[in-house]
Amino acid sequence: MENKKELRSWLDAFGLNHPLVIAGPCSAETEEQLLKIAHQLKDTDTSVLRSGIWKPRTRPGNFEGVGALGLKWLQRAKEETGLLTTTEVANANHVDLALKHDVDILWIGARTTVSPFIVQEIADAVKGTDKIVLVKNPVNPDLALWLGAVERFYTAGITKLGVIHRGFSTYEKTRYRNNPEWQIPIDLQNTFPDLPLILDPSHIAGKRDIIFDLCQTALDLNYDGLMVETHFDPDNAWSDAKQQITPLALEKMTVDLKIRKVEG
Ligand code: PEP
Ligand code: MN
Repeated sequence: MENKKELRSWLDAFGLNHPLVIAGPCSAETEEQLLKIAHQLKDTDTSVLRSGIWKPRTRPGNFEGVGALGLKWLQRAKEETGLLTTTEVANANHVDLALKHDVDILWIGARTTVSPFIVQEIADAVKGTDKIVLVKNPVNPDLALWLGAVERFYTAGITKLGVIHRGFSTYEKTRYRNNPEWQIPIDLQNTFPDLPLILDPSHIAGKRDIIFDLCQTALDLNYDGLMVETHFDPDNAWSDAKQQITPLALEKMTVDLKIRKVEG
C-alpha cells in the first residue's frame, strides 16, 4: 500500500485548504438537537457532520444511541445544510442501513478496530460502494492491529480510506482520557504515507481545555484533518459531556489554529 496516491484522492477532491474539519455531537440525541448543531456548523470550516447513533459504551447502563432512527435525522441535516455526513458502523447491518440513508463516510470505532472478524464483515459489506471509510485506532496501542484493519478494507477494494487517531487506553491515570502516543500514528504514516490522517482530540483529551493544544500539535505534524465533538449545550450532552465544545468555540479554534499556522 506504499505510495498509493488514490488513497488521498477523496481528500483532495474536497479542494480544501487543510485541515478537513469533521464536527458534530458525540451522539445524536433528538432530531432537533442534531439539526440545530448542523445548522450552527454550516457556516464554520466544517465540511462533514459527525454523529454517533449506535454507541459502543464500555459499560452497560449508559445511553447506547438512538439507533437507525438517527439515520433519517442525519439525512435531513445533510439536505438542509449541504454538509456531508459520517457515522460509526460496528457491524454489516449498520453498514446496510447507513448506505440506504446515503451516509457519505463510515467510521470504524476504536472498539471495533480490535476485532478482525468484525472488520472483515464490515469491509465485505462496504465492498463495491464508493464510500469513504475512516478507521480509528484500536483502543490498545497496537500499530499492527490498526494497519491490519486498514489492509482489510484496502484488500476488499475500498481505496477511499483514512485513519483517525483517538488515543490509546492505559490503566494508569494520565492527564489524557486516552494517551496520544504520537509515535504510533507517525509510524503508521511512515508505512503508508498517502493515507489521510485525522486527529480526534476529543477522545484523547476527555475534557475541553486541552483540545486546542492537541489540534495544534497535529497540524504541526501535518495531519490532514480534525474530528471534533461539538454540541450547543456540551454540559448536558447525553454522552461525552466533558469533552464536547460548542460550534462557536470550534469556529474560534479553527481561526486561531490558522493564525498560528500563518505566524508559525
Ligand atoms: C465516538 O467517536 O463517539 C466514539 C465512541 O469514539 P471511539 O471509538 O474513538 O471511542
Ligand atoms: Mn464520543
